[in-house]
Amino acid sequence: MNLFDLNQSAMRDYFAGMAEPPFRAGQVMRWVYHQGITGVGEMTNLSKQLRARLAAQTHSHLPKIIAEQLSQDGTRKWLMQIEGGGAVESVFIPEAERGTLCISSQAGCALNCAFCSTGKQGYNRNLSVAEIIGQLWQANKTLGYFDKQTPDKKTRPQARIISNVVMMGMGEPLLNFDNVIAAMDLMSDDLGFGLANKRITLSTAGVVPGIYKLARQSNVSLAISLHAVSDALRDVLLPINQAYPIAELLKACRYYSDMHKGASVTFEYIMLHNVNDTEHDARALARLMRTLPAKVNLIPFNDFPGGEFACSPRQKIDKFRDILLKSDIITITRKTRGDDINAACGQLVGKVIPRAGRYNKQQVMRSC
Ligand code: SAH
Repeated sequence: MNLFDLNQSAMRDYFAGMAEPPFRAGQVMRWVYHQGITGVGEMTNLSKQLRARLAAQTHSHLPKIIAEQLSQDGTRKWLMQIEGGGAVESVFIPEAERGTLCISSQAGCALNCAFCSTGKQGYNRNLSVAEIIGQLWQANKTLGYFDKQTPDKKTRPQARIISNVVMMGMGEPLLNFDNVIAAMDLMSDDLGFGLANKRITLSTAGVVPGIYKLARQSNVSLAISLHAVSDALRDVLLPINQAYPIAELLKACRYYSDMHKGASVTFEYIMLHNVNDTEHDARALARLMRTLPAKVNLIPFNDFPGGEFACSPRQKIDKFRDILLKSDIITITRKTRGDDINAACGQLVGKVIPRAGRYNKQQVMRSC
């Protein structure tokens, strides 16, 4: 059994099964997530016998960093190998006031959005909890985070380098629901990485049943890849819209917000030249956004080999933003980071060995 597959409650259950007290979970988790130590032999506050049992029953395999690229703007992209020969990408985006890690939830993606290079790779499989939280662990390790911790302090971790996590890498997180939830538990748990829930953002292409389920189980921030204001266009850009059209999606978002004291939902909107970027689109978006607590992130489209779209010109993006701002919708244009190393939104490809083809409604229903 992989120790990284267990969130706190699963770890407590595991120790209960060995007739050990629940606080063993905390002891092990502090070693792993505060000190960066995974060898049970080094967990010196456990008895020798217990260490031997753990060594016999568990391991701590993580995705392995096989390549690192550093962008001129400081963004780093890691290619991490997963079991079965594939690899996923994670991206670290340093900013003055925060450090954000963008994490993958699946090897490939089945949703086949027209503008996204991950979708073009096809779909291989869901990542395990260990493979999801392992990306954060590996990034922290590489960035020197574990070296800064004081041994065995029962406090929250110190000197965070990664202060925010966005589930915006490869894959659709709500189609890997249970593993993503358990991994996000470990991100926010004080015995894990101790990040505030609002600093963890899950982005979805609009898996409506998953949004309802998430609303009842989690407190993380929600982001929606909207990208179009009419079903006719959204059906083409994000085929999942054919199953869950905009009105149903917004209803689910309202539910999410209501379940979280009126928290805002972030709507991502890629600026695609002559596709969804007219003033008419901006006004229609403003009208939709007025129906619920919402913020808008405009994303300049990032090109990739074989892509069929172009990014809207800057002036048009600014005009679009101004129309939203005039309607009192909080709107920011996302800065493009890491595009020189193909680390920007929608450019992550990893190494996907496609097994299953594309999105179909039954598959989405089953996964939720
Ligand atoms: N499947 C989830 C998680 C991926 S998030 C989702 O769709 O939300 C990645 C974000 O980057 C999404 O908002 C996605 O729509 C956006 N994106 C995808 N391709 C892009 C591209 N080529 N340029 C800019 N943004 C892109």
